[in-house]
Amino acid sequence: MNTRHMFIIGMVFPFVLFVLVPAGCSSGEKDYARNRERMVVGQIAARGVHDARVIAAMRKVPRHRFVPPELRSAAYADSPLPIGSGQTISQPYIVALMTESLGLTGGGKVLEIGTGSGYQAAVLAEIVDTVYTIEILSELAERARAILDTLGYRNIHVRAGDGYFGWPEKAPFDGVIVTAAAPRIPEPLIAQLKVGGRIVIPVGDYEQDLEIYKKTAAGLELLSTVPVRFVPMKGKIRESN
Ligand code: SAH
Repeated sequence: MNTRHMFIIGMVFPFVLFVLVPAGCSSGEKDYARNRERMVVGQIAARGVHDARVIAAMRKVPRHRFVPPELRSAAYADSPLPIGSGQTISQPYIVALMTESLGLTGGGKVLEIGTGSGYQAAVLAEIVDTVYTIEILSELAERARAILDTLGYRNIHVRAGDGYFGWPEKAPFDGVIVTAAAPRIPEPLIAQLKVGGRIVIPVGDYEQDLEIYKKTAAGLELLSTVPVRFVPMKGKIRESN
């Protein structure tokens, strides 16, 4: 990039941000909105996530509200962040990629395993009618429920428990997303997915691949894989049978 290009970007970028940041919010909120816009452009769209619904959701959900207060200034950085209890909120790009991988077309319902902070659930709730999300650590489930409630998400249902078993009363789902790494796909989650729907799950131990499958009448069809790093899925999936 030559000096002239840098000059043009230097002139245009602040203007773009100025136009995009809504008027009338406090200076702190303005900073968050500006950082969020930078995140969408520089981390998500730049790496090839183009689904308009996903981009709109990532633009809207206030990620800083889902991280511990002392980490708010880093909420829009290109990395995962600790959320307490040894768990993490995923990197923004990974949240966008996983959401796009579900191939959602609006409406319907999605099951998430691993609520964590509740951020991924909020992104999904901007796209589908209803999100069911399960978190094994009750303190995280409670915290996520409280923040989602404060932000006005009435279409997200949080349950504390082992996501291995899914949420059979609400099945079948249009999509299933697992945000903790499992040695294999829990059988009940496959059973609770609609034919034509997708399941997105990090599989592996230290070396993990995000696996994206479509359910067909004949079974699961692997669409693609991406190397990732997630915290381990706990509970029933770790028992040998
Ligand atoms: N989606 C989250 C990030 C999740 S980190 C977010 O947007 O913030 C993975 C989460 O999965 C952790 O909170 C962990 O406690 C939870 N988890 C691990 N094993 C689980 C299981 N068997 N059932 C439900 N949640 C589980």
